[in-house]
Amino acid sequence: MVVRGGRIVEVADGEVRAPGGCEPIDAGGLLALPGAIDSHVHFDTPGFTEREDFEHGTAAAAAGGVTTVIDMPCTSLPPVTSVRAMERKLAVIRPMARVDFALWGGASGNLLAGRGWREDLEGLARAGVVGFKAYLISGMETFTELGEEQLVEVLAEAARLGVPVGLHAEDPGRVRERSRELVEAGRDGWEAVALARAEPVEEEGVVMGLAALRRAQGKPPARARCALHVVHVGAAAAAARIGAARRSGQDVTAETCPHYLAFTRDDFATLGPYLKTAPVVKTAADRDGLWRALADGTLDFVATDHAPCPRAEKETGGAWGAYGGVPGVETMLPFLLSEGVFAGRMDLARLVEVTSGAAARRWGIWGRKGSLEAGKDADVVLVDPDATWVVRGEELHSKAGWTPFEGRAFRGKVMRTFVRGRQVYDAGAGVLGEPGWGEFIRR
Ligand SMILES: [Zn+2]
Repeated sequence: MVVRGGRIVEVADGEVRAPGGCEPIDAGGLLALPGAIDSHVHFDTPGFTEREDFEHGTAAAAAGGVTTVIDMPCTSLPPVTSVRAMERKLAVIRPMARVDFALWGGASGNLLAGRGWREDLEGLARAGVVGFKAYLISGMETFTELGEEQLVEVLAEAARLGVPVGLHAEDPGRVRERSRELVEAGRDGWEAVALARAEPVEEEGVVMGLAALRRAQGKPPARARCALHVVHVGAAAAAARIGAARRSGQDVTAETCPHYLAFTRDDFATLGPYLKTAPVVKTAADRDGLWRALADGTLDFVATDHAPCPRAEKETGGAWGAYGGVPGVETMLPFLLSEGVFAGRMDLARLVEVTSGAAARRWGIWGRKGSLEAGKDADVVLVDPDATWVVRGEELHSKAGWTPFEGRAFRGKVMRTFVRGRQVYDAGAGVLGEPGWGEFIRR
C-alpha cells in the first residue's frame, strides 16, 4: 500500500513499487485492517466532561484502532439540536480530537416542543450530521423522548433531508410500569434493574419503531424512502424483528454493542453497577442469538455506546440510582478479533464489514472511510494476530479508569494506528502527537 498526502494511492497484493522519498513501514507478521468506525460514542463535550471528554475519548479510540468516531448529540450541552449548538460544540472539540469524527444531530422532545424544529433539522443536515438521534424512552431532561406521532413526523422530515433516524428502542410504558412495581415491592438489587428492562421491552420498542417507519413512508414531506437505524440492540428477538422488516423491503439497519455479546444478567453478581446500561444485558440465549445475527447480516455492525462515568456515579449504594453506561471504544476491535474471529464466530472479511465498512456506508462517509482502497483516507490499524493481553481498566485511555472487561484475556493486539497517514498510536510509545489532528467528517 502506498500513501501520499493522507490518502491511499495504491494497493497491491504483492510487491508495490515505492516511489522515491517514501518512508517505508514494515508490517511483517501483522494484519493491516481499515481503521474501525465507532458510530455511537458519548464523549460528553462540552457539558458532562467529568464523565468523559473528547481528548480522552479520542485517545482511547486511537489506542483501540478506531480512526473515526461519531459522537451523540444528547450528552453534551447544549444538545446538538440546532446548527448554533453544533458550531459551539465543534469549536470546543476540534482542538481536542486525536482521531477523525462525525456528529449526530438530535431530534428530542424538547426540540419538537418548539415550532422551528423542521428548520433546525434541515440546518443540521446541511451542516453534515450523519443522522438524527431520537429516543422512545429517555431519562434526560435536556434531551427528552418522542411520542409515536412525533417519531413519524421526524422520520418523514429526515427522509426529505436524506438522513436516517437512529432510535433508542425500548417500550417506555413497560419499562416505567415494571420499574414502579419493583420499587413499590422494595426491590433494589441488580436483578430488579435487569427485570425492569427485560424482554419483551426491546422487541416491543422495535415493533413501535417499525410501525412508525411504515406510517412515515406514506406521509408528506417524505419524498425519499424513510430510513431507520436501531441503536444498541441487546435482545435476539429485537434483532429478528429488524431482519424480517428488512426482508419485507423497509430501509432499516441496526447495531449491537460488545457488552451485549460478552455479558449476561448473571454477570451483575460480580460486576454490579459496572455493567449497568440501557438497554440492559440479557440472557445467554440473547447473547448467542446476537452473535449469530451479527455473523449472518441481520445486524449490520457493532458500535460501543461508549458512556463512562466516575466510579462515584456507579457506587451510589443502590442499583436504581447508579449511572447507566460503560466505556467501550478502546476494547471493541480487540474484543471482536478475539471473541469473533479467533473464536470462530466470524471471518476476517465480516469483521472488517462490522467494524468499518457497513457503518461508513450507512452514515454517508463511504467516499473517504470504511475500506483500504485507492482514493480513500489512509486510516489503517496494524494488529498482531498472535499477541494475547489482559485488559486492565487503569491502563485504558478513557477518563473512567475501569471497564466491565477487566481481567479478560484477548488474542489480537493493536500495535499501530494511523489516521490519514499519520501515526496516532503505538503499542510501545502510547498515544502519539498532539490533539487537534482529528478532522470533522461530514455526511
Ligand atoms: Zn448511547
